[in-house]
Amino acid sequence: MKRRDFLKKTGTATAAAVASTAVAAPAVWAKGKTTRWKMVTTWPPNLPVLQTGAERFAKRVGEATDGRLKIKVFAAGELVPAMGVFDAVSDGTVQCGSGAAYYWAGKVPAAQWFSAVPFGLNAQGINAWFYSGGGLQLWEEVYAPFNLIPRPQGNTGVQMGGWFRKEMNSIADYKGLKMRIPGLGGKVIAKAGGTVVLLPGGEIFTSLERGVLDATEWVGPMHDLRMGFYKAAKHYYYPGWHEPGTCLEVMFNKGAYEKLPKDIQCIVDAVAMETNFWSLSEFEAGNGAALQELITKHKVQLKKFPDALLDDLRKLAKETMEEEADKDNVSRKVHEAFKKFKERVGIWGSISENPYYNDVADKYSLKG
Ligand code: CA
Repeated sequence: MKRRDFLKKTGTATAAAVASTAVAAPAVWAKGKTTRWKMVTTWPPNLPVLQTGAERFAKRVGEATDGRLKIKVFAAGELVPAMGVFDAVSDGTVQCGSGAAYYWAGKVPAAQWFSAVPFGLNAQGINAWFYSGGGLQLWEEVYAPFNLIPRPQGNTGVQMGGWFRKEMNSIADYKGLKMRIPGLGGKVIAKAGGTVVLLPGGEIFTSLERGVLDATEWVGPMHDLRMGFYKAAKHYYYPGWHEPGTCLEVMFNKGAYEKLPKDIQCIVDAVAMETNFWSLSEFEAGNGAALQELITKHKVQLKKFPDALLDDLRKLAKETMEEEADKDNVSRKVHEAFKKFKERVGIWGSISENPYYNDVADKYSLKG
């Protein structure tokens, strides 16, 4: 119904009542008391989209609650170390934290499925799993024994395969290759005969430049450009089979979350979802621009992993995931649910997104 018709039908008395309610509203929605929370993150200060996304989340919650919930954000090391975030939120030292679930694999093996699975779901798929396929409910079950409530808070989209000092022609080229690649992807590389090196972000560039590392992965063009890896390794490979749509998380201490009034709980959940969408949009837009700069300005050699090499990695990734699922009953349950959902969206994707990108969309040249 058009507004004009609505006014005609309901008459001016109702319209006047609506107007007076609108004017009276601010008095009704008087400010409540302010709850103050602390958020710790696994990210270095100012890290675009990741740390700035956590800060954006906190700011938006403050605005949306009209100051009734104020969250102060601390980057990695400012209050607790990056890898101390899970425990700090779990034991109530702070009320919330931001990171990625695969960081907690040592404590909770099943957490890995909620961040990135090699050859797994992309951003669209993992969001569908969380919000419409029971994935978030499973994640809540997995975190519940730790007094934590998780929410997706961001997504990197498909990452890049990484920076290599030599060409990668077949799976045999991984033999003896020293690569910085964390998590499940690292386990796959180790199976292929590579040596996985774990280094803090600040040490990767120098190690790659000096040849202590033969290769590294990081995120995507936007973050990789910022790290300057193009100055240390010539070959930039795609796609990031190991992180096809990494989900970033926000987690709340259960007690702190449950103490919030229902409306603020809704706001916190809604802002997490909004930040998730914002984050993917930032990555999508930022990566496109950075990729262009890497190719045209820095003359980076962009290369696609050969199909046969990807087929071999896919086989090793399947074995790795089965081994991970065997670690405990919870991991097995999550793995089976993930596989089932992946197959379902995969069937749909094979006649929707796949043919659209492969056969229908405009083709773009990646040459510099
Ligand atoms: Ca990565």
